[in-house]
Amino acid sequence: LGKAYSFMVRNRIPGGKMTAAQFLGELDIADELGNGTIRITTRQSIQLHGVVKNNLWGVIHRINEIKLSTQSACGDVTRNVCCCPAPLRQNGLRDKLQQLADEIAVHVRPKTKAYHEIWIKDPESGKRQQVVGAPTESEPDPIYGNAYLPRKFKIGLALCDDNCIDVYDNDVGLLGVTEGDELIGFNILAGGGMGTTPSKKQCFPALAKRLTFVKTEHLLPIITAIILVQRDFGNRADRSQARLKYLIHNLGLPEFKSKVEEYLPAAESICGVPAGTVPCPLPEPHAADVTGHEDHLGWHDQGDGKWFLGLPIENGRVKDEGALRLKTALRTLFSHHVATARLTAHQNILLCDIEGSQKEEIEKVLADHGVVTVNQISNARRFAFACPALPTCGLAVTESERALPGLIDELETELKDQGLESEEFSIRMTGCPNGCARPYNADLGLVGRSVDGKTGEGRYTVFLGGNQIGTRMNQVFQDQVPRGEIVSVLRPVLKHFKEGRQGKETFGDFCNRIGMQALAALGNPV
Ligand code: SF4
Repeated sequence: LGKAYSFMVRNRIPGGKMTAAQFLGELDIADELGNGTIRITTRQSIQLHGVVKNNLWGVIHRINEIKLSTQSACGDVTRNVCCCPAPLRQNGLRDKLQQLADEIAVHVRPKTKAYHEIWIKDPESGKRQQVVGAPTESEPDPIYGNAYLPRKFKIGLALCDDNCIDVYDNDVGLLGVTEGDELIGFNILAGGGMGTTPSKKQCFPALAKRLTFVKTEHLLPIITAIILVQRDFGNRADRSQARLKYLIHNLGLPEFKSKVEEYLPAAESICGVPAGTVPCPLPEPHAADVTGHEDHLGWHDQGDGKWFLGLPIENGRVKDEGALRLKTALRTLFSHHVATARLTAHQNILLCDIEGSQKEEIEKVLADHGVVTVNQISNARRFAFACPALPTCGLAVTESERALPGLIDELETELKDQGLESEEFSIRMTGCPNGCARPYNADLGLVGRSVDGKTGEGRYTVFLGGNQIGTRMNQVFQDQVPRGEIVSVLRPVLKHFKEGRQGKETFGDFCNRIGMQALAALGNPV
């Protein structure tokens, strides 16, 4: 007998846009060929877990049959393009952003035929096609060349007043700049990325740096030029140093910008626009920056006569368990009531294009299946999310998805005891320092570090001082804190926050102002 391999299969869903049929298709695939659950990810995608090796071809093939794909959802290429998912149509800005996300996703998709030959072609025999190794034909990709990128590459689009996708956490963040209801262009942010290896001093998580400003019609050439620079100068010798953020760190932003300018003609050629189309030298970024953040939960008027409902999904896991029959509820809604959905970068779902007359029946379906809406959960739970970690992630050190709900239970009690239950602050937990749930710019970040050899309890690094709008890195407050002691470690900090905050200062702003050393030295107030 060989080893029993089990896989995670991730979809590519630009901007998180799905039809009801696609969501139902994913549920069917998970039920028939996965572990019976699906997981909404922090990049607005869907992951299927527990896919055994013999089912891999069938899963990927069927994902393509429902007109989704797994191509470049993983690997050293541009991953799923993120974009504000809210179908708010009052001024057309978000529709424009989604349209751009689709165009970018098509542009950066690898052009190789191999994916289709391996996973999609349906041989007449009806049997799985045997394809071994790489395709024999050489197929240099216009953007990625022969060797693709040194490491994964992430792109996201946001508006200044709504950074719901964490635009500064991307290799290329595209921050829409508006004048009134007009999109005048984008600030280009480069070199964000949350992953790190604590044992390697040269590794660090980073927010993207503000590179330049371009008009909307110049987005594809500037994105392409940045990818080409990373392709040709990114570190291919040391994978821990291969992300764009390290290239920018090593070159310095001015030299990196010069290289992007140098590559603009090649990028313009790839994009099929005349040389010199993008103004060069590249200008300074526009002064506009992130000012706000929305999670889009609850009922919202779309502005086109219809409504959407943002539904919280704890840690993105869609399953039936005990009294909570979320999977069945969504199956019912997508079979009979709801035609389209969008996935959020907070691992929640937006049920879209709903008639006002349907609101009551939809709420009834949810209530009948024990599914809570945003009004029925605490702020602590609303603004918290975790990566999958154990048992499905092979890199996990500690629990995360399965640990966070219990931790939030404890935190809710603590916040209530201190009269802080209405505070809004982001809480993000991961099972290792790779940072898939973006813990390093949250107000409170919890990163799995080790496991107690005797008890099996996870120990976490506690980070404080980020912010909900995602523009500030947090700092280490305490390291190696056992899971069971996290709330007691936070208790004195919360007390000091309540007593010492200035005006409406948020928890993260307070921690950042006081500083980690001073916070630790404050001790437990009487
Ligand atoms: Fe990502 Fe680490 Fe969480 Fe796995 S355990 S999902 S690699 S952060």
